[in-house]
Amino acid sequence: MEKKEVNKSVIELAQGDITQEETAAIVNAANKELSPGAGVSGAIHKAAGEQLWEDTKKLGGCETGEAKITWGYNLRARYVIHTVGPVYSGSPEDAKLLRSCYMESLKLASGHDAQSVSFPAISTGVFGYPIDEAAKVSLQAVRDYLREHPEIQKVRFVLFGDNDYAAYQAALKNLPV
Ligand code: ADP
Repeated sequence: MEKKEVNKSVIELAQGDITQEETAAIVNAANKELSPGAGVSGAIHKAAGEQLWEDTKKLGGCETGEAKITWGYNLRARYVIHTVGPVYSGSPEDAKLLRSCYMESLKLASGHDAQSVSFPAISTGVFGYPIDEAAKVSLQAVRDYLREHPEIQKVRFVLFGDNDYAAYQAALKNLPV
């Protein structure tokens, strides 16, 4: 496990299944309907139980770059923060929207006193965001947030595969803190 300190907070990289995380909140790479779907969202809904979909269907969806929060139900995490990443298009707008996902998710965590948060690699699955670029954008966003918000003590990136982990490892090494 790799880590880097930002003031008194820490950014950690881990490999595995985000549904097993014990941080106060886990972040879901959701779709605009906030429906279970496939990928990490399907896994989170399955592990949390049907009550999660009962909740998210009442939220009126979520726009790209925004975030909404629910309870975690059967998960170890108290909260699930649902954010909708951009579908990769190759325009400069992609990075702005991806950064916004991380910022808006962390703002919700701060507002709910969730001091530790786990993120998946948002947009890098079905939404097609190249992992190296996504790693850079997401790590910069989290570093910038932690610099201003010591109430968040720990942010974990939970990467699913070897390749994703290696991309984040390289990006974290090159991240000035
Ligand atoms: P998006 O639509 O935002 O691209 P996906 O769910 O397709 O969302 O993929 C986002 C990332 O989550 C991908 O890197 C995928 O490999 C990863 N992933 C899928 N299942 C899990 C899981 N259980 N825990 C952590 N990451 C996961």
